[in-house]
Amino acid sequence: MPYETVIGLEVHAQVLTQSKIFCGCSTRFGAPPNSQTCPVCLGLPGTLPVLNKKVVDACIKLGLATRCQIAPFARFARKNYFYPDLPKGYQISMYEYPPATGGQIEIVCNGESKTVGIVRIHMEEDAGKNLHDGAPDGSYVDLNRAGIPLLEIVSAPDMSNAQEAVAYLKALREILLYTGVSDADMEKGNFRCDANVSIRPRGTTALGARAEIKNLNSFRFIQKALEYEIKRQTAILEEGGRVVQETRLFSVQRGVTSSMRSKEEAHDYRYFPEPDLMPLHIDEAWIASIRETLPELPDAKRARFIATYQIPSYDAGVLTGTPALARFYEEAVAAFARPKEIGNWIMGDFLGMLNSEGKEIDQAAIAPGQLAALVAMIDSGQISGKIAKTIFEQMYKTGADPAAIVEREGLSQVSDRSELSEVVDAVIAAAPKEVLAYRSGKTKLMGFFVGEVMKQTGGRAHPTQVNELLRDRLKERPLIV
Ligand code: ADP
Ligand code: MG
Ligand code: ZN
Repeated sequence: MPYETVIGLEVHAQVLTQSKIFCGCSTRFGAPPNSQTCPVCLGLPGTLPVLNKKVVDACIKLGLATRCQIAPFARFARKNYFYPDLPKGYQISMYEYPPATGGQIEIVCNGESKTVGIVRIHMEEDAGKNLHDGAPDGSYVDLNRAGIPLLEIVSAPDMSNAQEAVAYLKALREILLYTGVSDADMEKGNFRCDANVSIRPRGTTALGARAEIKNLNSFRFIQKALEYEIKRQTAILEEGGRVVQETRLFSVQRGVTSSMRSKEEAHDYRYFPEPDLMPLHIDEAWIASIRETLPELPDAKRARFIATYQIPSYDAGVLTGTPALARFYEEAVAAFARPKEIGNWIMGDFLGMLNSEGKEIDQAAIAPGQLAALVAMIDSGQISGKIAKTIFEQMYKTGADPAAIVEREGLSQVSDRSELSEVVDAVIAAAPKEVLAYRSGKTKLMGFFVGEVMKQTGGRAHPTQVNELLRDRLKERPLIV
C-alpha cells in the first residue's frame, strides 16, 4: 500500500451532573420535551449564565487522568452559528484557553501498545435537538439538552487505522467510567465522536486534506464509517484526484459516508471571549484536591491484576472493562482464591448472559460470593463442571445460592464407588455387542460407555472415576454372552 491513514478524534462526553452547566435545570434523561428548561438555557434576553463548579472539577479530573497539564488560567468563548436548536445563536464553549492540554492515553491494538496524544480537553454546553418525526407540518425543537454539560476531548492525529481508533475510544470511555466523569452511555448520546480522516503517501509527514465524519455513536458504526472513508479517499488518490476538506455524514442503512457541507474554519465561528462569565483561575490547591479523588485507573488496575492474580493480559483487559466488573471479580477472588477459574466464569457464561440482556454486572442477581462458592464446589469435586453450568443458569435467574440449588435438585456429583459400580455394571451388561467390539480393539467405544453412564446418572457421575471403573471392567474379564 503506497498510502497511509491518519485519524484524529473529537469526543463529546456528557458530564455526570444533576444540573446543567449554566443553570439549575435537571439533566435527567427521557423527560417530556422542553420540560427541563428555564430562561437561561432557553436563551432568553437578559439572562446570565452561572457556572456549575462540578463541571470544572470533572474537566480537571479527566485532564489529570489522561496525564494532561492543567492550565492555571482558562476562559469560556462564544462560538457563533445559527441553527434552530441553538436558541442564543451561539454556543458557550472554550477556544484559546482550555483547562487541560498535552495529555496521553495508552491503547493496545492487536497486542501492540501505542500512545495517543490528547491535544486538549475543554468544557462546553450541548445544543437542543431538532425532531423531524411526528410533525406533519414541520419540525419540533426539544431544548432539554440545551445547556447539558459536555467535555470535548480532542486527540492528536495519532491513529493509523479504524481498529486503533476504536481502541482509543474504548480506552477513553473506560477512563470516563472509572473517574465517574461520565456514564459514557452511547445509546443515550452521552459519548459521541467526530472522526477526522486523511490519507497521505506512506512515509511522508505533511497531513493530507481531511474529511470529518460527524456524530458517530457506536463502536461498530465508527469502525465501518472509517473503513469506508479510508477506501473512498484511497480510491480518489489512486485515480490522481484530490480529497476535498469537508464534513461528511455516515449512513447506517447504506454503510457509506456522504458529503454534508464544506468544512467550516475556526474563523467562520467568530469566536470571542464570553463576557458573561469570569475567567477561571485554577490554583495548585484545587488541582491537588481533585488529584486526591482519582481512583486506580484502568491501566494501573490491569497491570495489578496481571501481577497479583497471575492471569493473562487478555483476561485482565476484559475483567477491568468497567469498574463494576473489576469490583465483582476482586470480591469473588477474595472469597475463593481461584483467579483464573473465576475469571473464566465471568468472561464466558456470565458476560454472555449479561450482554444478551444489556445489563451491567452489578445489576445481576448473582453476588460475587455466590460465584466463588460455585467454583469452590467444582474444585472440591462436589459437582461436575458440566452440572455447574446448569446451576449457574439458575443462580443467574433466581439469585439462589449454588448449595441450595444442588440440595434442592439433587445435583451432587456421584463419586461413591459402589453406587457408580452398579451403574457401570448395568451399562456393560446391556451392551454385549459394544463390549465385544471394544475388547477386539475398538477402544474408541469408551466414549459410548461413558456417555451411557452419564445418561443413567443424569450427568452427575464423577468423570475420572467413571473412566477408571469402565477401563477396569472392560479389560480382562472373560466374555459371557
Ligand atoms: P476543528 O476544530 O476544525 O475540528 P482541529 O484542528 O481542532 O479542527 O482538529 C480536530 C481533530 O482533527 C483533531 O482530533 C485532530 O487530530 C484531527 N485532525 C486535524 N487534521 C487532521 C488530518 N489532516 N487528518 C486527520 N485528522 C486530523
Ligand atoms: Mg471538529
Ligand atoms: Zn435551564
